Amino acid sequence: MRVVIVGCGRVGALLATLLAQDGHQVAIVDRNPAAFRRLPPTFAGRAVEGDAFDLEILRQAGIERTDAFATVTAGDNTNYVLAAMARRRFRVPQVVARIYDPVRADIYRRLGVPTISSTTWGANKIRDLILHLGLTSVLTVANAEVEVVEVEVSAPLAGHEVLHLNVPEEVQVVAIVRAGRAFIPSPLATLETGDLLYVAVAAAAKERLESMLMLR
Ligand code: AMP
Repeated sequence: MRVVIVGCGRVGALLATLLAQDGHQVAIVDRNPAAFRRLPPTFAGRAVEGDAFDLEILRQAGIERTDAFATVTAGDNTNYVLAAMARRRFRVPQVVARIYDPVRADIYRRLGVPTISSTTWGANKIRDLILHLGLTSVLTVANAEVEVVEVEVSAPLAGHEVLHLNVPEEVQVVAIVRAGRAFIPSPLATLETGDLLYVAVAAAAKERLESMLMLR
């Protein structure tokens, strides 16, 4: 995949490094050449020096042919404007803007620019580490408003039907692994000791899920 990244700060440099390590064609833009020192000497992508508001610089980075564009400078407005431009003017299929301010992230998302709010995501994760030691997250959806967690069925829960765990809009058992085989359970499936449950849960319903699973 071809990826253009703007901002070679801590996030941008790491993102570029990870994608390049995975074999993707990465170009990273920064107006400050010193920022490229954050890239490892083994970095296989391209570093493009210049201001990303300069269309010529974006073209040099390959924005006209790229599959994805991520903008991760520290400026929320900068990231929004660049992402909107990548999407509308250059029709880049995959665009992501990192936005610190959760309120703006929501507004920008509604305006059609996919955003990741590192503030919301980080706060949700820290809250989880403090409060939800019993649930292991296997998938975080968007800014962690919804997560899929893995949990092993212990004795008190065995014998109950899946429907007792499902709560509309809050909790949904999406899969069970039993004796090494995964299946999507019907609401009437009976839980067995040792089952591994994969449960989609809304962030606000995690404590409720923990009580239902008798982890608290
Ligand atoms: P900041 O902390 O906002 O300066 O952003 C983190 C990185 O993004 C820094 O290395 C900046 O030099 C870079 N950066 C910020 N704005 C732009 C821009 N318009 N074009 C290119 N790089 C930028």
